Amino acid sequence: MREMNLEQNIIHSVLTDDLSRAKSLLEQGEFPLLAELMDRAHEKALPLSHLKSEAPDFVVFFPAYTCGVGCKMCCTGFSSSTQLYEDYLYMSPDQFDSCMPWVQNSSYVIFCGLGETLESPHMIRFLEKIQDKISIIYTSGVPLTREKIRDLIRAELKILTFSFDGKAPLGHGAGNPDYIRKFWQKIDWVQQLKSEMNSIFPKITLNITVSQDNQDELSEIIGTAQQHGIQEIMIDPMTSFDQHNFEKTIFADFESSKNKINPILDRWNSEGLDVTQTGFAKSFLDSSSCPYVDNWLTLIGTGPSTIKAGVCEGLLEIPQPLRSFDNQEDWNSFPIRYLRYMHFCASEKSRPMHCQNCILTNLKNYADLSIARNSSEENTEHNPLAEYRLASRLKAEKKWEEARQGFLKALENNHDFALTGKTCFHLGEIELSRKDYKEARKYFELAVQYYYDHGLAFAYLYFLFMLDPPSQMPPRRDKFDASRLVSTLYDKYLAMNS
Ligand code: SF4
Ligand code: SF4
Repeated sequence: MREMNLEQNIIHSVLTDDLSRAKSLLEQGEFPLLAELMDRAHEKALPLSHLKSEAPDFVVFFPAYTCGVGCKMCCTGFSSSTQLYEDYLYMSPDQFDSCMPWVQNSSYVIFCGLGETLESPHMIRFLEKIQDKISIIYTSGVPLTREKIRDLIRAELKILTFSFDGKAPLGHGAGNPDYIRKFWQKIDWVQQLKSEMNSIFPKITLNITVSQDNQDELSEIIGTAQQHGIQEIMIDPMTSFDQHNFEKTIFADFESSKNKINPILDRWNSEGLDVTQTGFAKSFLDSSSCPYVDNWLTLIGTGPSTIKAGVCEGLLEIPQPLRSFDNQEDWNSFPIRYLRYMHFCASEKSRPMHCQNCILTNLKNYADLSIARNSSEENTEHNPLAEYRLASRLKAEKKWEEARQGFLKALENNHDFALTGKTCFHLGEIELSRKDYKEARKYFELAVQYYYDHGLAFAYLYFLFMLDPPSQMPPRRDKFDASRLVSTLYDKYLAMNS
C-alpha cells in the first residue's frame, strides 16, 4: 500500500471498517469532531454492511501512457503531447502481476487507452497470462504491423476493438484519405492472418466516436465496416474539453443529433449487426441503470509503483485513500457500498451528480449541463469561488454564523460540482460543531453527492449512518447484467465461426 498521511490513514481505516485502528489514530487528537462521532456510534451496526459484493467481472487496464496519433478530440491530452507522465510510459509487468487477484476473479480483461494500448512493450506478456479470460484490446490500429497481428493471434487475444471515426477532422487520422485507406487495410490484414493461422480470434469490433462532423457519415462507416467483416459496432459520443470543441459535439444540439443517429442504429440492428451506444444500449437513450456499477474495476498506473483504481467508466472518482485497491476491503469499502445503495436501493435523484449527468447513461442531462457550462453569459456580480474562499476564512476564525451565510451564498447558481461539494462539506462541519446531527448529515450527503471523492465527508457520513441507519431498507435492485450481454455476443460469434 502506498504511503498515506494521518488524515488519509484515518479515512482509510474508517471507510474499510477497521474501527479499532481508526480509534487509535484518532487518539492523536487532530480530528476531534470525527473522534466524538466515533465515540457516539460505539458498538452500533456498521453502515450498509449488507451491500458487500463479489469481485467485479470486468477488469480494465490502461497499459500505455503514450500515444503518437494526435487526435484533436483527445480528452486525455494527447492532442498536443505524446506522453502523459514525464518518467512513466507503460504499466510494468510487476504492476500488472500485482493486480492478478482481481484478474483471477474476473471473466473479462480489457486493455484500453489513456494512450495507445499497442505502444506498450508488455502487451503480449500480459495476454499470455490471461488466456483463460475473454481479453479485449482497444486500439487506433496505427502501431499494428502484420508481425504484431501474428503475435496477438498467438497470444490468444479474443477481441480486438478498433477506434475509427471516418472523415471527422477532430477524430482519428483527422479524415486524411491515406489514414482511412491504411485503417481498412489493417482490418483486412487481421482477417487474412486469422484465416492463414487458422484462428477465429481475435473477433474484430469497431468503436466510432460520433460528433456533429460525422453523424451524417455514420451509416456509411457502419456499411464499410460490415463489408470488412465487422458485426459489432459501439458508438460513443465525442466529449469536449473546450468551448470550440463543444460546438462539434452532439450535445450542442442533442435532440437533433439523436433523431439522426437512432434511426441509423435501428436500421443496422434490424439488418443483423449489433450496433450499440457505448456497448450496452441499442439506441441513444437515457438508462436508469448503470452498466458499470458493481461490474467494473479500472486500474490505471500513475507511476512506477502506484496504481489508481476506479469503479466506473464515467467521471466518478472514489476517495483518494481507497484508490490503490489493494484488496477486497477496498472493493467493499463504505463509499462503494454507498454507491450500490444509491444505484440499487435509492431514487435516481439521490445519486451522485456525476451519475445524474453521466455521458454514458444520462445523455439528456449531460447535454443540458454542458450547454449551461458552455453558456457565454457570465454573472460578474456573483463569484461562488470568491464567496467560498471568504467563508472558509471566516470558518477558520470560528465565526460560524458568518461562515455559514457565506457558504450558503457560494451555493447559489453554481455549476461547479466540486466546489458545491466542498461547500456542503464545510456546512456539514459547522452543523456538526453545533451538534445538529440531522442537519450535518443532510450536508454530508450533499457533499458526497457533488464531490464523490471527498474522503472526510464520507468518514463523517459513515458514523452518522451508524447513529441513524435508514429505518426501512428498500429491497436491492439487481445490477445491470453486463456480463450476460457480452457473453451472449461472444457465444454468437463462436457459433458463427466454429
Ligand atoms: S488514439 Fe486515442 S489516446 Fe491517441 S490521441 Fe487519439 S484518442 Fe487520444
Ligand atoms: S458516473 Fe455513475 S452512472 Fe456514469 S458510469 Fe460512473 S457510476 Fe455509472
